[in-house]
Amino acid sequence: MKVIGKPFLTVEQIQRRIRELALKISDDFNGKEIIAVGILRGAFMFFPDIVRHINVPMVIDFLIASSYLKSQSSGEINIFADLREDITGRDVLLVEDIVDTGLTLKYIHDMLLARNPASLSICTFLDKKSRRKADLKLDYVGFEIPDTYVVGYGLDFDGRFRNLPYISIFKETI
Ligand code: IMP
Repeated sequence: MKVIGKPFLTVEQIQRRIRELALKISDDFNGKEIIAVGILRGAFMFFPDIVRHINVPMVIDFLIASSYLKSQSSGEINIFADLREDITGRDVLLVEDIVDTGLTLKYIHDMLLARNPASLSICTFLDKKSRRKADLKLDYVGFEIPDTYVVGYGLDFDGRFRNLPYISIFKETI
């Protein structure tokens, strides 16, 4: 049986933190134009929520990458759909749902860095720092969370729960 607990991060907490992050990003990129890249499918809620509060000129793009197989890290990263924009010489902001081992984002980061952007920054909604394997600098972090599996607000278990507007801790019982 799959169960979820009460909200671990409420809608109000999430939206308040997003406005803080967006303000910081707007300050840091003042006077520049950014390409904001949403990494799908996980960032499908966080991405629109944050970009609507960022006050700098912006081009939107998406990248579809593979993530977990159920709650296990697959270790293999597949790019199902690449960017449409040419990022050479441009300021890129990668927007991710959660960084766990960091292997997925490290792969995407290095792939995009090879295209010579002017800058490549990372914004993640959640950070499971204690699980990190890849060497990755996270520029903007919504919340640092403990080593526990969470669902909701774009995050899934086996494709489910992405539509919850808040974050819950996920438990599977037999
Ligand atoms: P990483 O490569 O280990 O950093 O894994 C990153 C991807 O795994 C994320 O983009 C998520 O799709 C998925 N993931 C990691 N932890 C969780 C979690 O607690 N809930 C849901 N998905 C997760």
